[in-house]
Amino acid sequence: MDIIKILPKHVSNQIAAGEVIQRPASAVKEMLENSLDAGCTEIKLLIKNAGKKLIQVVDNGCGMSKSDARKCFIRHATSKIENAEDLFNITSMGFRGEAMSSIAAISQVEINTKLTDQQTGTYLRIEGGKIEEVKESSTTDGTSIKVKNIFYNVPARRNFLKSDNVEMRHITEEFTRIALANPNIKMQLVNDNKELYHLPISNFKKRIINLFGNKKNESLVPISEKTSIIELNGFIGKPETAKKTRGEQYFFVNGRFIKNHYLQHAVFKAFEDLIPTKYFPSQFINLKIDPKLIDINIHPTKHEIKFEDEKAIYSIIKSSIKRSLGMYNIVPSLDFSQENAFELDFKNIENTNFKQPTIKIDKNYNPFNHKKIDSDSSTKNNLDLKDNTLFDSDILDNNISIPFQISNQFIAISYKNGIKIIHQRRAHKRILFEYYTNSLKKGNGKSQHLLFPKSIELSLKEINLIENLKKDLNSLGFIFKLKNQNMEIYAVPTECREENIKEIIEDILNQAQSNLEIEVNQTKKIAKSLAKSLAISNSKMLKTEEMSSLYNELLKCKVSNLCPNGKSIIKNFKIDDLKKYF
Ligand code: ADP
Ligand code: MG
Repeated sequence: MDIIKILPKHVSNQIAAGEVIQRPASAVKEMLENSLDAGCTEIKLLIKNAGKKLIQVVDNGCGMSKSDARKCFIRHATSKIENAEDLFNITSMGFRGEAMSSIAAISQVEINTKLTDQQTGTYLRIEGGKIEEVKESSTTDGTSIKVKNIFYNVPARRNFLKSDNVEMRHITEEFTRIALANPNIKMQLVNDNKELYHLPISNFKKRIINLFGNKKNESLVPISEKTSIIELNGFIGKPETAKKTRGEQYFFVNGRFIKNHYLQHAVFKAFEDLIPTKYFPSQFINLKIDPKLIDINIHPTKHEIKFEDEKAIYSIIKSSIKRSLGMYNIVPSLDFSQENAFELDFKNIENTNFKQPTIKIDKNYNPFNHKKIDSDSSTKNNLDLKDNTLFDSDILDNNISIPFQISNQFIAISYKNGIKIIHQRRAHKRILFEYYTNSLKKGNGKSQHLLFPKSIELSLKEINLIENLKKDLNSLGFIFKLKNQNMEIYAVPTECREENIKEIIEDILNQAQSNLEIEVNQTKKIAKSLAKSLAISNSKMLKTEEMSSLYNELLKCKVSNLCPNGKSIIKNFKIDDLKKYF
């Protein structure tokens, strides 16, 4: 007996629809993309009940003829490609011809569309994929599509939908991605008759601010890079604005939002040591690349794409972010939105009678490029840093007050235009972190011998780890032997106190074992953990010389305003700020 049946068309369409349309937000994405492909300059998205009741997209694009309006609901009906070859040169958002047929299969659709050069347009009503009504209509140029009662005929899917809040968040996210990728299109989002977004035509930065609020204005740092394979531009958020939740990681390739774990890693890597672990930096990055060098076709929702030269793109992204971060970090509060916006106010310094030092900002300077930088050799890059140091110590001689301590926690220094408050423990952490990173690189950490060797008992796993870290630990100044399951320590870095040794080793082991999502290189982890163990506490009384020296050492650091896990070290309160309190 034969058992194979050919599924009826409406069933196979419903199955196909399941892949393309998972929730109201998927229909939103497909329809917004179609409007973009239709060359519109304005899109309005109207939502009711988080899209469960209504999703309507109104555009002023090219519109469709009567027969195209019928055809667009047939599976694999597309105006965007003609043959498989075209797949390698896609510049439109769509190409599979699956979205409209899928949407129509699982909802009640009404469409009103008019070609620009026609007097009248077409109205079409479809239910569950079947055309119920077609008539001439008087409508404006472009297309308006209403999708009602999504999944009305697929109860399993409908029941699977989440709460209105969750579904609306998905819709807003799709809208945001498309709005970010197309600042040259006016876009509106209205939910249950309330306008959520009204985005005028603007540039990329303005679009980000219109979507995410005015406070973004100060935190965006521009990035840009042009190479033979790729053009990159956009913005990253300053490290201190990193968030505990993911969400503002946006990559666009040729105007299309994409997800790519490998390239995302390049961004996280560039922010390494500047933000706390498990925090996520904001990023709004546009990549322009020859469509022949990418393959968009690998995922039905087209979020994932494959690049031919992923490794090169990875390093371009990483280095260009690092460079921008470097430029921003050279001087603690260089604000990119204004020129000359150093916190130590230049104008007032100019009026005093000492020479104004010049601060050179080398655009190619990369403070993270360890090969080039070396804190006690005088490479070109270092001269820039020295200028920075000189700059502040000039003021120290002439204009800065003697430092004093607040509550054994903070160091306060008043200068001509205000007061700086320095977090003493974080400052010390940063200094030690850079010192140990350097020792690790050069293998020249200073040791002090212990009067009696100290023995620490370790597990087999820990012994293995220590064996792997041996070279690094030696570089820092630890001298030890591993015997059975014991670590016999003969010498330790000079800063270590004997009573802390066990704790320090345990901390290094913990750090080394920590299973971080973002892989941090091992030496950095060690340097970080030593800095953490050895930095002065938040309640240590300091002598004036100690405070001055801490401040001066801090200014010599490559990054002087953030501690290794990304928290602020210095806060400036300007006179004008202080006046506001009175
Ligand atoms: P694709 O976008 O992959 O071509 P779709 O199923 O999304 O497939 O759309 C099918 C066709 O319907 C498109 O190729 C296009 O010609 C037409 N179409 C859909 N939406 C619009 C619109 N808003 N304006 C003009 N034409 C549209
Ligand atoms: Mg489409």
